[in-house]
Amino acid sequence: SPSLAPPVRTVASVCCYCGTGCGVQVRTQGERVIEVAGDESHPSSHGRLCTKGMNLAATVRRDASRVLTAQLRRNREEERRPIALHSALSAAARRLAQTLRQHGPQAIGLYLSGQLLTEDYAVFNKLARALIGTNNIDTNSRLCMSSAVSGYVRTLGADAPPACYEDLDHAKMVFIAGSNMAYAHPVLFRRLEAAKARDPSMKIVVVDPRRTDTCEIADLHLQISAGTDVALMHAMLNVLIWEDLVDRDYIARHTEGFEALKRRVHEYTPRAAQEICGVPAEDIVRCARWFGSHGPALSLYTMGLNQSSSGTAKNAALIHLHLATGQIGKPGAGPFSLTGQPNAMGGREAGGMATLLPGHRDPGDAAHRAQVAAAWGVDSLPDTPGLTAVEMFDAVLEGKVKVLWIAGTNPAQSLPNQAKVRAALRRAEFVIVQEAYANTETLEYADLVLPAATWPEKDGTMTNSERRVSRVRTALRPPGDARPDWQLACAVARRLAAEIAPAKAPLFRYRSAAEIFAEHARLTAGRDLDYSALSHALLDSEGPQQWPFAPQGAACPRLYADGVFPTSDGRARFMDVAYTPVAERPTARRPLRLTTGRLRDQWHTMSRSGLVPQLARHVEEPCIHLHPQDMERLKIAGEQLVEVQSERGALVAPAQPDPALKPGHVYMPMHWGSGYMAGDGVNALGNDAVDPLSHQPELKHSAVSVRPLDYA
Ligand code: SF4
Repeated sequence: SPSLAPPVRTVASVCCYCGTGCGVQVRTQGERVIEVAGDESHPSSHGRLCTKGMNLAATVRRDASRVLTAQLRRNREEERRPIALHSALSAAARRLAQTLRQHGPQAIGLYLSGQLLTEDYAVFNKLARALIGTNNIDTNSRLCMSSAVSGYVRTLGADAPPACYEDLDHAKMVFIAGSNMAYAHPVLFRRLEAAKARDPSMKIVVVDPRRTDTCEIADLHLQISAGTDVALMHAMLNVLIWEDLVDRDYIARHTEGFEALKRRVHEYTPRAAQEICGVPAEDIVRCARWFGSHGPALSLYTMGLNQSSSGTAKNAALIHLHLATGQIGKPGAGPFSLTGQPNAMGGREAGGMATLLPGHRDPGDAAHRAQVAAAWGVDSLPDTPGLTAVEMFDAVLEGKVKVLWIAGTNPAQSLPNQAKVRAALRRAEFVIVQEAYANTETLEYADLVLPAATWPEKDGTMTNSERRVSRVRTALRPPGDARPDWQLACAVARRLAAEIAPAKAPLFRYRSAAEIFAEHARLTAGRDLDYSALSHALLDSEGPQQWPFAPQGAACPRLYADGVFPTSDGRARFMDVAYTPVAERPTARRPLRLTTGRLRDQWHTMSRSGLVPQLARHVEEPCIHLHPQDMERLKIAGEQLVEVQSERGALVAPAQPDPALKPGHVYMPMHWGSGYMAGDGVNALGNDAVDPLSHQPELKHSAVSVRPLDYA
């Protein structure tokens, strides 16, 4: 009878897909999510959701699509068998202790995910550094935002996006580079679309080798050759200088290094850039003039700049345009990286990367290590540099890293050069995979599986692209033996401590996610991101907050309004960077440029979004996009099966004519892997060359050949 039905409960939380961080209202009845709706009170999204967010309820499963129990295999010839959770946690700890005794801390690597909550990151980070004694902790955020981090730190002095979403409403010129925000950040795209509708004089420029849906609102599309962004932006700076559209007073008072860069960009005339980028010189001049004279200029950028072997230089070249024109720290102006993953920002704040410590500290800085060690109550932290994502899997393949603990991510599909990554996973002596979904390729390689809770079974926080910390709240009990990631990490840590350092076991006795957050927030005190006054309780009573957070002070929607930067002398830096070509240039053997991107309705390797039939309607199957001119030259018909080859792998898929591409370029969405198509996905072809500063791999460009398979 209706009176016996469980009550409907509503919990406010945040969407778990992208870095926009939209607020949601999760309605549950018993153990079921019956609806996920936009949260009108959330200051980042005001009730808006995209198709992925609107379909979240269908992703919450308690069936065989979930990892419901721990599993272990005693050797590689055996199938994994379910075991009790406590036995699995002990097995993980025993194996880690044994490896530590035999090979030392550098033989262990942890590989995490931008899907994890800040509290999960905080515990894993403490476990790696304070207990195991290694900096070998990295995350799939390395594939996402590390070039943005590197660009910000080297120019502005801190890993802090200076703008906020409100700036979309105030900008007069919006420069979108390497971002198909119509698909990747749809809620922000709709906001920009509305702003343009209100103010048709707003200029929007999109830089992309494809005419994406984002170009629908663009006044100008600069159809650049993949990977040549630095030359384009240097040419824009060249025009700004030549036409005296730079802010000389701002440069003199607030920056360093302009003269060297000015000499550098002298050679990047619009004509020279036209040769490199394949963009008409007149369009470069027009874009630069709008940037320098049309009112507040806002730059929005993501993977097209970041996933590159020159990702730091690309980020810096874009930030230079803002510093040179003084367009930063003002309403509607500034460089604004749009974060890919929902909590890539929080992971960085907690220091969950090989190159970071909590509170945006540097593991290479002895004083920073001492500060964190003191806060955690340990004598010291390791000073051996940690391995970043690609390096970590290389080290596994070389036999240096023997035990790998992977949490919430699917590197067997998402890292470039999959054949090498999979060989590494086979070579590893022991692979622990902590995972919520039963469909990831990486699970095939797991010796031990730990069942993880997922959204909305977790409690904690995430930080979105505009530095806003929001609460993620538990709406349901996790199914089976699944547990929140921080609880699994703590349980293994306590057991490991019992074996190797009993005095450290209390470091991992947290009663709640709120307690972890409190410890983490204290570590931000005095740092650029200072949110030491934030707590779960305050977020619950006052709602989501941006950092830096001052309890009684004014909100800080945008940074550097006073022209003071968090560098040693308060000045921002111009970086004297040259344009360098992509790591793998097209050749006679591999004449085409392969680039990748997201679809509007899928997420990453589809472990969650692939569960929702409605989301497959937008694009149903993987195909290779080719320009009609290239198809004609290669004698490929529409929908014909083609083989695409790079130096690292090959895949077969139907060809799709796509006049939106720049000729000579090939495009494939990144989502499908071996679970959805014959053979591996597009990252099997992808290049694992990395940016020397950010260590981010060049997922956006590989040289490939394409041949028809059954051409008659
Ligand atoms: Fe979720 Fe991003 Fe869509 Fe917002 S824009 S609903 S955060 S996927």
